[in-house]
Amino acid sequence: MSKEAAMTLHAEPDDVARSDALAGCECGHCGRRYFPKRTVCTECGSDGAMADVAIEGPGALYSHAIVQIAPKIFEVPYAVGYVDLPGDVRVLGQIVDWDRQPLKQGMKMQIDHAPIATEPDGSKRVSFVFRPAAD
Ligand SMILES: [Zn+2]
Repeated sequence: MSKEAAMTLHAEPDDVARSDALAGCECGHCGRRYFPKRTVCTECGSDGAMADVAIEGPGALYSHAIVQIAPKIFEVPYAVGYVDLPGDVRVLGQIVDWDRQPLKQGMKMQIDHAPIATEPDGSKRVSFVFRPAAD
């Protein structure tokens, strides 16, 4: 994975207002929401009409995979998945606590933030994550 692609998969903790939400944007023209943020709406083509918005959970697990082979900074195995969040926003992210119950399509997932990797200097990389929610 390129560095650019890796950076799109996580948001800096300072970039979100709350630990249970993602810092997204909403098109002022058509209302389409995005995470991560972008400047041009791919739904209606509007440019410069985006406003910051908190993308909140819970969402529904769309699909997932268990990663067995990864760069050294990640502890394997770990789970990643697409979660459909309110506002028609589908987000790819790591899933924590995936080994406590079977992951199933449609199960409720909440947004949280947690360490997802250990950098070469020993510091932790914190990112948004998805966590199975209690029903
Ligand atoms: Zn739009």
